[in-house]
Amino acid sequence: MPKTIIVSNRLPVKLKKEDGKYIYIPSEGGLATGLGSIYKEGGNIWMGWPGVAIEEEKDKQDAIENLKKSNMSPVFLTEKEIEEYYEGFSNETLWPNFHYFNQYAEYEERYWQAYKRVNQKFADQLSELTEEGDKIWIHDYQLLLLPALIREKYPKISIGFFLHIPFPSYETFRLLPWRRELLMGMLGSDFLGFHTYDDMRHFLSSVNRLAGIGNSHGQISLGSRKVLVDALPMGIDYDKYATVAADPETLEKEVRYRTLIGETKIMLSIDRLDYSKGIPQRLRAFELFLQRYPEYKEKVSLLMVVVPSRDQVGKYKELKEEIDLLVGRINGNFSRMIWTPIHYFYRSFPLHALSAFYRMAKVALVTPMRDGMNLVAKEFIASKLNKKGVLVLSEMAGASKELSEAILINPNNIEQMVRAFKQALEMPEKEQIKNLEVMQNSLKRYNIHHWVKLFMERLDYIKSQQLALQTKILDEASQLLLEEAYRNAESRIIFLDYDGTLTPFHGDPQQASPDDELKNIILKLSENPKNQVVIISGRDKETLERWFGQYSLDLIAEHGVWLRLHGKKWKTLAMLKDNWKKDINDVLEDYVGRTPGSFIEQKDYSLVWHYRKVETGLGELRTRELTSHLKYLASDQNLHVLEGDMVVEIKSSEVNKGRATQKWLKDANAEFYMAAGDDWTDEDTFKAMPENAFTIKVGNTPSAAKYSVTDYSDVRKLLISLCTNKKEAIT
Ligand code: UDP
Repeated sequence: MPKTIIVSNRLPVKLKKEDGKYIYIPSEGGLATGLGSIYKEGGNIWMGWPGVAIEEEKDKQDAIENLKKSNMSPVFLTEKEIEEYYEGFSNETLWPNFHYFNQYAEYEERYWQAYKRVNQKFADQLSELTEEGDKIWIHDYQLLLLPALIREKYPKISIGFFLHIPFPSYETFRLLPWRRELLMGMLGSDFLGFHTYDDMRHFLSSVNRLAGIGNSHGQISLGSRKVLVDALPMGIDYDKYATVAADPETLEKEVRYRTLIGETKIMLSIDRLDYSKGIPQRLRAFELFLQRYPEYKEKVSLLMVVVPSRDQVGKYKELKEEIDLLVGRINGNFSRMIWTPIHYFYRSFPLHALSAFYRMAKVALVTPMRDGMNLVAKEFIASKLNKKGVLVLSEMAGASKELSEAILINPNNIEQMVRAFKQALEMPEKEQIKNLEVMQNSLKRYNIHHWVKLFMERLDYIKSQQLALQTKILDEASQLLLEEAYRNAESRIIFLDYDGTLTPFHGDPQQASPDDELKNIILKLSENPKNQVVIISGRDKETLERWFGQYSLDLIAEHGVWLRLHGKKWKTLAMLKDNWKKDINDVLEDYVGRTPGSFIEQKDYSLVWHYRKVETGLGELRTRELTSHLKYLASDQNLHVLEGDMVVEIKSSEVNKGRATQKWLKDANAEFYMAAGDDWTDEDTFKAMPENAFTIKVGNTPSAAKYSVTDYSDVRKLLISLCTNKKEAIT
C-alpha cells in the first residue's frame, strides 16, 4: 500500500542521554502536531535526525527499534557532519543569505561538501524506505538538494517540498556560489510550497534568471514534468492555543506572575536568539519610547523572553552580549524600586507559562528584521480569549501578509515603532476586539490542519496534471487497437466536437460549414445502424440543425444547453437556474482555501469572489488563475466571468459539455465508446466518458484524453478508416 514519508532535518522527538541511557523528548511544535495526522497513520514514516550524535552501534540499533514503534526512522549524523552541514552550511550560509543578512554568510567549500554528503545520506536512507507510488514531503532549507537526489532514483514518485524560511530575492540568492545546484535540487520536487507570495515570486525569478526556465501561473515545465509552485502560509494549532489559554494551570500561573510583577501593562516579546528577530532594534525603540513618553514609566514593562539558540556561533554570541548590554543599560537608567522596565529571561518556557504570558500581555511586539512566518504572532492572537490586546507586527514577517489588522511597522524605522507602541497601549477596547476578532477568525480557518490538507491536495493536483500530460500520441498500434475494438462492437457511441476537431478552427462562423469530405464521413458513420453519433458543439442549435439536421444522429448545441435526438425537436438540457452555482462555488471554495483573506459572496444570480484583503500580488495571481480556470465556461453565452475592482464575479446560469455528455450517457449501454475534441470544453466530455472509452485530443496541450492527434485531418483519416472498414463499409 502506498505510504507518505515526511523528511525533515529533525525528527519530532529529541534523544537525550541521561545517566548513560537515552530518553525521548517529544516536540510540542506546531509542525509536529500538524504532521501527526500523517506520519502516525498506517505505514507512514517521519525520517530525520534525532537531535544528538549517537556513536555506539548498539545505541543506534536501540534508537531505530524504539522510534520504529512511533513510525519514525532516524538518520544518524556524526559530530563533524552536524558541525559542517547543520551548523555550518545550513545555519551559517543558507540562513543568513535567505534572511537578507548576507554580510554574516560564510562561504566555506568544506561546509558545502558536507551539505552535499548529508543530503546524499538522507537520499540513500530515503531510497531504502521508498516504493513506487509513495508520496514524499521534504521540509526546509537543510534539505534543498534532496528532492533531485530522490527524483534520480524514482522518476515518477510524488515529491513535495516546503520552505519554512523566506526565499530571498534573486539579487541576494545569486550571491551564493552554489546557487544553481541548490535550485536544481529543489526542482526535483513536483510541488514547492512557500509561506508567502513574495517568497514564491523570488524563487520563480531565480529559476528564470539562473536556470533560464520560465513559468506560467506558478507552473514550471521541466521537460515532460510540470512543477507547481505556490504560496501556502502555515497556520497554528489554533484549538490547542485557545484551549491551553482557558486551562486552570495557565490561569493559576497568570495570577502568580501578576502578583509578582504588579499591575504594570505588559508588552511581550518572545523570540529565539537570532539576529533576524530584531531584538536590539526593539530594545532601542523601547528605550526611546520611555524617554519620549515618561508618563509611561512605572505603567509599562517589557516582558522579554529570548530562547537560547546557536549560542556557540560567533555572531550569536555577539548578539547575546549586545542584548545583555542594552537590557542592562535600560534597566540601569530607568528602574525604580517598585518598577523594572524590562523583565528579561534568557531561557525557554513550557507551554502553560507561555500561554499565561500571552494572556497577560496588553501588547505583543513581534518585530523581526525578517521572518519566514512567525508563529508567536499567531499564538498570541489565538490565546486572547477576551479579545483584548494589540499586536505590533513587522511587515518583514510572513505573518504580516495575513494579519493586516495588526499595527504593521518597519523594524528599521525606530520613530514608527515608538509611535506604534503608544498607539497600541492607547487603542480603545472596541477597536482591539474588532481587530482581534477578524484575525482570530482567519487563524481558526487557516490552521495547521488546513495547511497540511492543502499541501497534500496541491501535490496530488500537480501529479494528476502530470499524468494528464502523458496523453499518448495515437500511433499506428493504438489506431489498430481502436479499429479492432470498433469492429468487434455490436453497438457504438461516438461523440464528436465540431470546430477544430472535424474542421480547421475558424474564427469566422460563416467559414466553417462542413465540406464534401466531411459530409460524406458523417453520412457513412451515422448511417451504420450499430453507431450512435453525437455532434457536441458550442455552436448554436440553428447552425447545427442547418449543417447536420438531415443525418441520423444526435446534436448537442451551445455546450450542452440544447439537445436534439434523431430528428426530434430540440429540447433544453439546461438545469434549474441555480444549479451551476454549486460547481462554481466548489471552485471558488478551493481558491478561498488557498488564499487567506479572500471570501465568497452569494448573490441571487451570481457568485462573487472578493480578494481586496489578500496579500498584494497573491490576489492578482489567484485572479489570473481563477479566470483562466473559468474561462472556458464563459464561452457559453449563459455564463460570464467578470473581473471587477478586487472581485471576480460569475454571473448567470451555466451548463457544460461534461454534464450534457453525462446526461446523454445516463442510460446508454454500448460496447464501444469514443470521443474526440480539441479544446477545454471537450475536457469535460473526456472526463464524462466511461473508463474504457477511446478519448482523443486534437492538439498537444495537456488533456484528460487517452490519445492525441495533431489536427482535424487526423480525426478525419481515423473516421474514414473506421467507416471504410471492409466488413463495415457502406458503399
Ligand atoms: N516557544 C517555545 N518555548 C519558549 C518560547 C517559544 O516553545 O520558551 C515556541 C513558540 O511557542 C513558537 C516557536 O517557539 O511556536 C517559535 O516559532 P517562531 O515561528 O515564532 O520562530 P522561529 O524560532 O521558528 O524562528
